[in-house]
Amino acid sequence: MTPKEQHFEGLGVAVGIAIGPAYVRESGAVDVPERRIPKKDIAPEQKRLQVAIRLARRQIRLLQTRTTAKSGVNGEELVYLLDAYLHMLQDSRLVRGAERRIAENQINAEAAVNAEIAAIAEVFHSMDDSYISARIDDIREVGNRLLRNLTKTPIKPFSAAPSGSIVIAEQLSPADTAQLDPDQIGGAATVGGSAEGHTAIMARALGLPTVLGASGLTDDIKTGDIIIVDGNAGHVIVNPTARTTAAYERRRTEHRKQTRRLDRLRNIPAVTSDGVAVTLQANVELPIEMDMVTQAGAEGIGLLRSEFMFMNRDDIPSEDEQVAQLKSVIGVMGKRPVTVRTLDVGAEKPVAALLNGIDPSAVSNLGLRGIRLSLAQPNALETQFRAILRAANSGAVRILLPMISTVSEVRKAREILKKSAAKLTRRGVKVPDPLPPLGVMIEVPGAALAADALAQHSDFFAIGSNDLTMYTLAIDRGNEHVAHLFDPLHPGLLRLMEFSANAALRARIPISICGEIAGDPRFTALLLGFGIHELSMTPSNIPLVKQRIRELDMAAANHRAAVIMDQVDAGRIAMLLDDFNALA
Ligand code: PEP
Ligand code: MG
Repeated sequence: MTPKEQHFEGLGVAVGIAIGPAYVRESGAVDVPERRIPKKDIAPEQKRLQVAIRLARRQIRLLQTRTTAKSGVNGEELVYLLDAYLHMLQDSRLVRGAERRIAENQINAEAAVNAEIAAIAEVFHSMDDSYISARIDDIREVGNRLLRNLTKTPIKPFSAAPSGSIVIAEQLSPADTAQLDPDQIGGAATVGGSAEGHTAIMARALGLPTVLGASGLTDDIKTGDIIIVDGNAGHVIVNPTARTTAAYERRRTEHRKQTRRLDRLRNIPAVTSDGVAVTLQANVELPIEMDMVTQAGAEGIGLLRSEFMFMNRDDIPSEDEQVAQLKSVIGVMGKRPVTVRTLDVGAEKPVAALLNGIDPSAVSNLGLRGIRLSLAQPNALETQFRAILRAANSGAVRILLPMISTVSEVRKAREILKKSAAKLTRRGVKVPDPLPPLGVMIEVPGAALAADALAQHSDFFAIGSNDLTMYTLAIDRGNEHVAHLFDPLHPGLLRLMEFSANAALRARIPISICGEIAGDPRFTALLLGFGIHELSMTPSNIPLVKQRIRELDMAAANHRAAVIMDQVDAGRIAMLLDDFNALA
């Protein structure tokens, strides 16, 4: 029987249309390719597993020592948990089962561990006991550590997915999304997530048509089912009929044609119809995005989210490795500015190696996130500063601090920057003179309200409208349940942005905006009207925003922004802005 066509609605967070087979990712599972092995390799493969187990036990014991030395009550709990992990690596079902599968199924150790975890998880699920179901995550944690030790390199998830697959999952973390290879994966759709979360940002950066927040999507979808993801409208269609597929193929062709038309704007300046030049820069997460940055004609990098280079690995990149990564970005930009943001770790973007005994719950959105974690771990910040300073010798680098809320944080960070520079000089390493400009993100409401004071201590501002919206309106930016309430046109938020822009203009320091609204042509007139003439966005949106700027009259935009700022109702503001946009 032909399967029935099913439709799901979600949020189209990365444009484009993808059609391909589903690759359903089980939550928490790590994808590893399965390999058949000859009989003679069974014993060596079992030995490889034993070596990985011994290494995992050593790693966990080391973690226990560090935890005992560092923390209090939470640390004690962690020590017990790690004890449980050690037990799971003894003569447990996981270990015995994996060994048996290697022998009976003649498969590689990675696939055997994966299959055993899946089997244990299934048994646990069927027990309907909340304590036991919570243990599934622990087993997965131990299993994933084994897999990492076995492969010796960071595991590339989804590598088993056939070319052009659409990844389907309950939830994809930003770190998972960073591992989707656009040459292999066609698109993605998930039940969780929202448009301003870092998963959405990463999907846009990779140019993967993506729908998030599609409720019920995973209920009965199977790997191999044909899927259409419409990232423009937020539709996901499972098992489409031939007629539906043909209609979406036409749309896909049209979308590609439109993208090519916009590509022609690459070398044309972003100037308003009355002659005001606007700077359009790119937001970048990983060096692999640099082709897109060049293709989009970005005039610089307004935000390099350095934390993505620290994800999907067990260790912290060394100073030399960080220099190499930064240089690979700076080298492409030549003389064009590159704004490197120091680590914004925490909340949606955990970096295990930096937690170092800190309870993960302490790095929530309101916890030790961004600059707070960096100031709590000055050694890691110093290393990062040294790497940035060394890389800055080969380009026009600026340094940006995330999650700033007080002047004292800027002062402390500047002190550490100077100390890092002095250390390099003592080592005989050249350091840019003067030091690169040190700017701050305006993304915490308190920072926006104190923007005049911060402007006295900062060399530039970058408004992070994503977090500024989240913290001002108390709406989790990655949560599908409140995604519809996330409204950047809320008058409270606009006032904070206008106040910050005025503070920067009065202090004569540059101001840019790098939140998602910077890349949405709907908001361009309003942002220019605030006096913000530097916009940084996901590279693929640069042509769209440029097109909008070229048809805009700056004087009219200024006037409309002033009218909007007299309003108190978000609905009326939206109407005034959309009417203005429709006039163009
Ligand atoms: C922001 O918060 O708007 C921002 C640009 O930073 P991120 O999205 O990385 O939190
Ligand atoms: Mg932010």
